[in-house]
Amino acid sequence: MPGWIDISLPVRTGMVRWPGDPVIEVNRIATIGLDDSVCNVTAISMCAHTGTHMDAPLHFIAGAASMESLPLDAVMGPARVIEIHHPSKITREELLTHDLQRGERILFKTANSARLWKTDQFLDDFIYITPDAADYLAESCIQTVGIDAYSVGGYHDRMQETHVSLLSAGIWIIEGLALEHVAAGTYELVH
Ligand SMILES: [Zn+2]
Repeated sequence: MPGWIDISLPVRTGMVRWPGDPVIEVNRIATIGLDDSVCNVTAISMCAHTGTHMDAPLHFIAGAASMESLPLDAVMGPARVIEIHHPSKITREELLTHDLQRGERILFKTANSARLWKTDQFLDDFIYITPDAADYLAESCIQTVGIDAYSVGGYHDRMQETHVSLLSAGIWIIEGLALEHVAAGTYELVH
């Protein structure tokens, strides 16, 4: 496919959010021609864990690096989209078939992409990375991992362990990718 593909989610009022996170609001606070305004201005209210976003090490490790320390290399350069076939989770066994290389940027396309982003409801049975698969990603020394889910970790399956395994290995995490229309293969990732 020629050209660039947007793999991020639009941010809009009432969009899906993690349970307990604040409601996302996008409000026009000035409109051209109204109350003498010469421009349109929009205010956005949301937490940082909204839509397509990244997890800094600080998200799960007290005192660790925050988002400001993101190296641009983590989100710019060749990236491989791997299509996951397991119906409920990403496992070490399936990853073993993909010959992961040190320093790779890996984006997981799962059945989530065709499902999660079509509703404003939070679906707690999304496909996620098991702690064992996260350990394998850490052992493989990949640089960046992305997933088309609200979280790399499962809502009902040791979510903290998956995060800590990846983040303590120095792997940068992208969550909330929209990969429905992206085929498996190697691309250039631009943040
Ligand atoms: Zn996360």
